[in-house]
Amino acid sequence: MHSKVVIIGSGPAGLTAALYAARANLEPLVVRGLQPGGLIATTSEVENYPGFVEGIGGFDLADNMEKQAARFGTQFKDTLVTKIDDSVRPFVLHTDDGDQLTADTLIISTGASPRKLHVPGEEELANRGVSYCATCDGFFFRGKKVVVVGGGNSALDEGLFLTRYVDELIIVHRRDSLRADPVLQERAFGNEKVRFVWDSTVDAILGDDKVIGVRLRNLKTNETSEIEVDGVFPYIGHLPNTSLFTDLLTLDEGGYIVTDGRQRTNIPGIFAAGDVVDHIYRQAITAAGEGCRAAMEATWYLAEQEHAAKKAAQAEPVMAQ
Ligand code: NAP
Repeated sequence: MHSKVVIIGSGPAGLTAALYAARANLEPLVVRGLQPGGLIATTSEVENYPGFVEGIGGFDLADNMEKQAARFGTQFKDTLVTKIDDSVRPFVLHTDDGDQLTADTLIISTGASPRKLHVPGEEELANRGVSYCATCDGFFFRGKKVVVVGGGNSALDEGLFLTRYVDELIIVHRRDSLRADPVLQERAFGNEKVRFVWDSTVDAILGDDKVIGVRLRNLKTNETSEIEVDGVFPYIGHLPNTSLFTDLLTLDEGGYIVTDGRQRTNIPGIFAAGDVVDHIYRQAITAAGEGCRAAMEATWYLAEQEHAAKKAAQAEPVMAQ
């Protein structure tokens, strides 16, 4: 299957790129990837995306974006891109269902994934009490006691969401002050279900077939202690999903794709947008803005290519009869 624009990733950046590319009659194809809708689709309530006075659920926001992009002719494919061949034009994309796609331009919006704690028990007890998605799993912790790790917006936002279900929420943070926005801090400090453990990290997650507790380490005293809990939700930031591009694109020291300020990567015809590029703002609205820019750049790039091809065809000498 050939497309003028293939968009890899379906979060706010990818879906906004799709909307703009579709409205430019480019009939884009979105490869949805592992997390359809992106991380925002796993977020409980989004209160800071303009236009939604009362806020909107993260899943609904992503779903609306997808429907809006589809309305103008975006195609979607549920697969993963496993390899990109940039030695030929159009680009050739191999997918994990054994298919091959070709594309005149690529927009990479593969986003970022939750950073892991990398402590004993985390991997073994994943989905058995360890979760990275409060929206998806909060319901299973009704009446329980859980730990959230981190002091940023995600930790507080998702922690506060969990208080709808749990009896007790313990926020474990490695410092004694939070990075989260003041409005979230106020809500957390005012919530009687929430307790903070400061200057501490989770050293181990305990349990055989389900989480039964955590071992904490106080970083000031180096003392360890164990508490009984039923769940652990690490919210300690994100890592960009760029393993596919390490040999293809210029990445910075954090693994984010380097762009030139106009969403252009080091390879002409490949653009990047959203959390896979941005390690500063990382908001749905900034990702959407970058997706818009990437699609406009791709549109201009394709127009230039077409113009250059026409000029070259006109300049070709007419063969003698
Ligand atoms: P973040 O802002 O990078 O915060 C990560 C938190 O985890 C920090 O408190 C950090 O501690 C802690 N941390 C990092 N590595 C750790 C480790 N190895 N062990 C223990 N703790 C560790 O990440 P985020 O909260 O996921 O937010 C990402 C972006 O999304 C931000 O730009 C945020 O504003 C945005 N966001 C916004 C909203 C909203 O507006 N409502 C909601 C969610 C996310 P230190 O503080 O000591 O560095």
